[in-house]
Amino acid sequence: MSKVLKISNLHVAIDGKEILKGVDLTLRQGEVHALMGPNGSGKSTLSYALMGHPNYEVTEGTATLDGVDLLGLEADERAKAGLFLAFQYPTSIPGVTVANFLRHAVSNVRKPDRKEGEDLISMRDFRKELRAEMDELGMDQEFARRYLNEGFSGGEKKRAEVLQLAMLRPAFAILDETDSGLDIDAVRIVSEGVNKVAEKASTGVLVITHYQRILNYIKPQFVHILFGGRIVESGGPEIVQLLEREGYDWVRAKYPDLAKVEDELEQHNPAGQLTF
Ligand code: ADP
Ligand code: MG
Repeated sequence: MSKVLKISNLHVAIDGKEILKGVDLTLRQGEVHALMGPNGSGKSTLSYALMGHPNYEVTEGTATLDGVDLLGLEADERAKAGLFLAFQYPTSIPGVTVANFLRHAVSNVRKPDRKEGEDLISMRDFRKELRAEMDELGMDQEFARRYLNEGFSGGEKKRAEVLQLAMLRPAFAILDETDSGLDIDAVRIVSEGVNKVAEKASTGVLVITHYQRILNYIKPQFVHILFGGRIVESGGPEIVQLLEREGYDWVRAKYPDLAKVEDELEQHNPAGQLTF
């Protein structure tokens, strides 16, 4: 049965300031959705709030995965429920190898009641599976012995996220600006990996991006524009072409009140970057 991720009237605040002002979005497994929007429109805020980052306070609304209330769960419980977030800025964990990290992550997700220090999936089975997934993604086996994200290039960090996706096989994956900082070859390689994995596991994918580039490779059936803390437009791939041709000016013109909100946010944090 295909699962459903349903976000209704989601309001999210950071440091008491409301960033998302009522987001509605429904994804089904196997679907690919793109969420586009200018820098600072709240795209990462949505992904962090869904994954349960403690700095992002949900003040109103609901998010459910197959009827399960995600907002009442800790981040690890959300992962066990079938949600995965590929970070815009993945963190390095010196001293923890990719393989060791993945063995724990996979054990936790597949054996939700496991206690730390017990019942890891067997090294033999894990190695076999990891090798197969890495082969399929065209990754060098040596990569698994490196410390997670430590000294990785931008492309390698994103490939490590795709490898996690391949091993964890979540029902839903949110990819936050997976193309940022990558050259075009890396975008293609990472996208091909995502497509392969998503198809195999029938993953529902939410690709977050403000450029159309990655959407040439991961093709969305549904496209949404986030602006001023709300989804203002939803449609098909034609929206991507429209944004590519005309930028966001027509969105500003069509939603002048929300454009004011955007300008305020921009002044609040001109770089449009996370500040923690
Ligand atoms: P996007 O991912 O669409 O570029 P973000 O979700 O990162 O946007 O940010 C939305 C807005 O939230 C930003 O313009 C900024 O003003 C604000 N914001 C984001 N993170 C923080 C933070 N840690 N503290 C204060 N304001 C923040
Ligand atoms: Mg962002």
